[in-house]
Amino acid sequence: MSLACLEVLGINALKQGDTYYSLLTGNTKALGEGSSFSVYSPIDAEKLSSFNNATPSQLDAVNLELKEAFKVLRSIPAPRRGELVRRIGDEARKYKHELAQVISLEAGKIVPEALGEVQEWIDVCDFAVGQSRMLHGLSIVSERPGHRMMEQWHPLGPVAVITAFNFPMAVWAWNAMLGLVCGNPILLKPSEKAPLCALAMYQIAQNVIADMEDIPKAAVSVMIGDRQLGEAIAASDTFPLVSATGSTAMGRAVAQTVAGRLGRSLLELGGNNAMIVSATADLELALRAIVFSAAGTAGQRCTTLRRLITHESVVDTLVERLSKSYDSLPIGNPLAEGNLVGPLIDEASYNKMQASLAAAQQQGGTIVCGGERVTEGVPAKGYYVKPAIVRIAHNAPIVHEETFAPILYVLTYSDFEDAINIQNEVPQGLSSAVFTESIREAESFMSPAGSDCGIANVNIGTSGAEIGGAFGGEKDTGGGRESGSDAWRNYMRRTTNTINYGGELPLAQGIVFE
Ligand code: NAD
Repeated sequence: MSLACLEVLGINALKQGDTYYSLLTGNTKALGEGSSFSVYSPIDAEKLSSFNNATPSQLDAVNLELKEAFKVLRSIPAPRRGELVRRIGDEARKYKHELAQVISLEAGKIVPEALGEVQEWIDVCDFAVGQSRMLHGLSIVSERPGHRMMEQWHPLGPVAVITAFNFPMAVWAWNAMLGLVCGNPILLKPSEKAPLCALAMYQIAQNVIADMEDIPKAAVSVMIGDRQLGEAIAASDTFPLVSATGSTAMGRAVAQTVAGRLGRSLLELGGNNAMIVSATADLELALRAIVFSAAGTAGQRCTTLRRLITHESVVDTLVERLSKSYDSLPIGNPLAEGNLVGPLIDEASYNKMQASLAAAQQQGGTIVCGGERVTEGVPAKGYYVKPAIVRIAHNAPIVHEETFAPILYVLTYSDFEDAINIQNEVPQGLSSAVFTESIREAESFMSPAGSDCGIANVNIGTSGAEIGGAFGGEKDTGGGRESGSDAWRNYMRRTTNTINYGGELPLAQGIVFE
């Protein structure tokens, strides 16, 4: 496995001996002061890197740098901050292939998907550059004579971004590119499973900042550490906003800590995404969408399709055709051309998948195909699996859990209203889809009484969202929205200004106080 991308991106300069830095602020680079850990590629279990965990006590010094950086960044005109992000986007374009390579090495994504993830970063740069000239507030009429009112959006403060392993670049980019144009320094705490991706993004941004003297270097900072570091970040009042992506258990912990100090959290947590396939659906179209949504990224997307709610009249045909497609899915080294399903992230993930399949069987489910480990034609030590299809009742407890692996539960319905109820009956609320040719079904699905998810698609799958929309979900998914639409407002504070340009001092609500 070639690690040349690390050299090209300049990541190999970010270490002392064999140990990479865990604290990088542009001004300061330091090893972590905590316990050491190594990262192994899911592709073949080859060792990729060694780090020491950055500790909560190291956070104090970083916090000071971030606060100083904020004082400078907040007063730089937003279009100039947009210029910073534009150049970061150009730099990411230049190194797109190397960046994708790092994603594949650490997260095990097939190259086209890894390239797609870097493209998301590039796209959100373009979006954020435009946004840097559109941080608009409202002008509001006043009830008082000689007065006017307006809203302004101001930079918020240092933003902490805690990320999951499976989108090691895109999630940071959604937050950081918008956060920067909004005038906030960004501290990234990446997943312990993908720290080289964090170093790559840091290096790309610092290449740009080196040529922009007015931009404080700490505007793009990284600390690499474990859960304890994440907990310290959540507790630190340096961060008016903590954006956290990962499991629901993590989000619950972060939300409670941040709320305890009356900070804001922006949560992007687990999903349990469903697609309804109605009796009228175009099955050809549905089939392609299902295979990509359910088996793509080896089932390790937050938006992965996990529940297929199928009309009873089409379920047998659909399952038969799906099994055939699954049989011919090329599974193997994600760096090799042609493979569509790479490895699971690690052994724990494989064990969790096996436990969920066993539970599904105990709860009355039948495995139609897949689930087993693939050992031939794949790198020996990676955890490669055949994506599984399981027929099971919609209310089996395991179906209501997110297992972060390629298991597709096939459920049936007879009445469309029941299908919507089944779609909504799980704790999570991220992504959903309906395949139907009926306008009545499509509109019902998107109506107030329809899908309760943050994403509700018609005739496309559950995964692969565009950056232009607000991304996120409800209930156990955490309620956060990132990326497009008006998600930029998360990274700003709103002030309401009332200006008296008259010579009198009338009070609101007609109060007389004299
Ligand atoms: P994880 O929860 O194990 O870890 C995510 C991050 O949280 C890591 O950086 C970890 O160090 C940190 N962390 C863990 N416990 C913490 C705590 N108590 N306080 C502060 N930080 C803590 O998640 P993972 O296994 O890396 O990722 C998979 C999960 O992420 C899945 O549930 C998936 O659905 C979810 N995810 C959601 C989205 C989304 O946008 N909704 C996107 C990607 C992944």
